Amino acid sequence: MSETSPHDVLIVGGGVIGLAVGWRLRQRGLSVCVLERDAAPARQTSRVAAGMIAPVSEASPTEPALLTLGLASADMYPAFTGELESETGLSVGFRRCGSLFLARDGDEAAVLDRDLAFRERLGRPVTRLLPSEARRLEPALAPTLRLALDIPDDHAVDPRALTVALTRAFTRAGGELRTAVEVAALSVSHETVHGVRLDTGESLAAGQVVVAAGPWSGQIAGLPPTARVALRPVKGQIVTLSDPAGPGLIDRVLRMQPGYLVPRGDGRYILGASVEERGFDTSITAGAIFALLSDAIELVPGAAEWRIDELNAGIRPGTADNLPIIGPSPVLDRLLWATGHHRHGVLLTPLTAAIVVAAILGETPPEGAEAATPGRASVSAAAPAGGAAEAAETAAALAAGPGVEG
Ligand SMILES: Cc1cc2nc3c(=O)[nH]c(=O)nc-3n(C[C@H](O)[C@H](O)[C@H](O)COP(=O)(O)OP(=O)(O)OC[C@H]3O[C@@H](n4cnc5c(N)ncnc54)[C@H](O)[C@@H]3O)c2cc1C
Repeated sequence: MSETSPHDVLIVGGGVIGLAVGWRLRQRGLSVCVLERDAAPARQTSRVAAGMIAPVSEASPTEPALLTLGLASADMYPAFTGELESETGLSVGFRRCGSLFLARDGDEAAVLDRDLAFRERLGRPVTRLLPSEARRLEPALAPTLRLALDIPDDHAVDPRALTVALTRAFTRAGGELRTAVEVAALSVSHETVHGVRLDTGESLAAGQVVVAAGPWSGQIAGLPPTARVALRPVKGQIVTLSDPAGPGLIDRVLRMQPGYLVPRGDGRYILGASVEERGFDTSITAGAIFALLSDAIELVPGAAEWRIDELNAGIRPGTADNLPIIGPSPVLDRLLWATGHHRHGVLLTPLTAAIVVAAILGETPPEGAEAATPGRASVSAAAPAGGAAEAAETAAALAAGPGVEG
């Protein structure tokens, strides 16, 4: 077994979260290595994401802490992507396009009306639109539309472009990226994490280890049960379409019950997404794709002419309370979590990186960060009956029902 020179920080997982954390830490002068088991970074959940930066559309009265985190991270997006683009010379496809939340029938309109007052109280612009007003903004919407909310500050980014830019920014800043290496276990002794062991048998020492392995974060070996976190895999199927006539049919993100259509601005559209509790299965099913396409064509009849470019399925890293798990382990020294982002990992990327950097450098954490603390009882995989496991089942059952998903 060989031992190489230690890094200040090892990051397990090269998705959008691991890459952003690595870039931000490297900018602060730490030696950082990202370990990714795929042949290239960001081939898993981050590659499949639609890229909505949409805290107001996603807001739920029952999830105030998630909303606070989402709003804070959305506010960081323009500066975050601007800096990334100027450091790399690459576009990340951040479009300030706004979103329309749409209702197709009386029931959906009643839900929009019910949630309008709650969304208005968030202090972000939201306007109720009659169908004719919505069609003035997006003329391709079907005449059967019943009601819409205009949410002009909910935007979108291209997650694939974002991860390409993050990879370049991280490596250009001097970060080390090792691909095709699987972390088999964390090296733990005396209640402290000292590094990782790779599947090749190689050991890597580090001052701190950040686990950013998405939905697989709860599976990394070497941890005592009390130090593990409970995650549930939530499958999402999603379609990439393109308009042979080019861009322009739809400009804004369209949200519906359930699902969404995200224009990339270049004639491509991302149509998502199913919400399924099927473990780590990523098969594509006719029923899920049919449901997505039929909803989209009902709302935008012109979508019937679009080409299908890709069908994908990804696994969201869900938690029992739908909040991410970010920060130092309450059980083991020198271990940090940056995971559990469920349907908001792209949105929460800048804030997650800021929380981890602050924790590692001993700085004041961003406001609201305590809501994501790994110390909360609901994320411990070792919680007694009635704890995390049961909560995860309840959340799974809830998530299995219809809902608007990222
Ligand atoms: C259909 C769908 C649509 C979505 N849409 C949105 C959206 O519009 N907006 C939004 O904010 N979020 C969205 N999400 C959620 C978002 O994609 C995730 O929250 C986010 O990508 C999680 O990023 P991550 O880096 O934690 O995980 P991942 O991207 O999965 O990265 C984890 C990485 O860790 C690696 N890894 C795992 N185990 C090991 C190991 N032992 N050793 C080494 N490497 C390892 C994996 O190979 C992987 O590359 C969507 C998700 C889905 C499925």
